[in-house]
Amino acid sequence: MNQAFLDYYRCPERFANFTPTAKRSADSGFFLFGKDVLCYGSNSAAFPAAAVRPNMYDALANVALGGASLQLPFDPTEITDNLRRERYLRNSHNGSAKISVEQALSGAYRVLRPALPFGLRRHLQKLYLRGRQEQRFPRWPVDRTVEDIVERLFVLALKAHAVDRIPFIWFWPEGAPSCAILTHDVETLRGRNFCSRLMDLDDSAGIKSSFQIVPEQRYSIPPSFLDSLRKRGFEINVHDINHDGRLFADQTVFLRRAEAINRYAKEFDAIGFRSGGLYRNPEWLDALEFSYDMSIPNVAHHPPLLHR
Ligand SMILES: [Zn+2]
Repeated sequence: MNQAFLDYYRCPERFANFTPTAKRSADSGFFLFGKDVLCYGSNSAAFPAAAVRPNMYDALANVALGGASLQLPFDPTEITDNLRRERYLRNSHNGSAKISVEQALSGAYRVLRPALPFGLRRHLQKLYLRGRQEQRFPRWPVDRTVEDIVERLFVLALKAHAVDRIPFIWFWPEGAPSCAILTHDVETLRGRNFCSRLMDLDDSAGIKSSFQIVPEQRYSIPPSFLDSLRKRGFEINVHDINHDGRLFADQTVFLRRAEAINRYAKEFDAIGFRSGGLYRNPEWLDALEFSYDMSIPNVAHHPPLLHR
């Protein structure tokens, strides 16, 4: 129960002393943790709602301070994992992945986009964005669910321990208030040939970015090309396998491709991965041997285009 909080703050373990109030429901669903914080998962105090709706159960009402421990009707680590693995997309009754009409349309849009006239494209984008802004979970364009949960727990932990501060490790180096990353997906031969100019541009702004390389079919990858990125201090990541949009279409095919992707990771000396078109199935990503994944956006979130 304590892991998500400890991963976030990296504070002394004694401050993350969360215990369950009672056994939690087997079903997952939506509930609140304070007025504006939506959670998806199980809890022990009320039946979680199948969809986001007004007047949902608020778990904050059932938090109890017991000695130096904090009794919670839900597991913050489970809630965080459900969000990270996009489990809220699942139909809680049969456990199978469900594709909404919106997801299917957004998939069709991406395929048709190059053929659509500019005016129509703009109109469709506006409609899409309007729908996104009204979406309550995850929030668009920036979802702060995890931050909101851990910050609320932090305040409760201060009360439970009767202290006015808890030491923790700051999020960014040298006390920086925030952090940005710059990444380039190299999709075509033209793109590959432009990398040298792009490195010049990034260097002129003092930025060392990463380049996501498609290992198969798109363009050749001479060792001298990879060396040129490395020597200048830029990062190399693996981008899909051949960017055909079918990486997650079938689990057997995916696992076979994952083996090849892992081989390319070693060959490229790459520790990061991003799928083509951000197609994904978070439950399968464990087959990939990387330190980090960039297939699941945490800003301007858009739904995974799951294949069936
Ligand atoms: Zn791409």
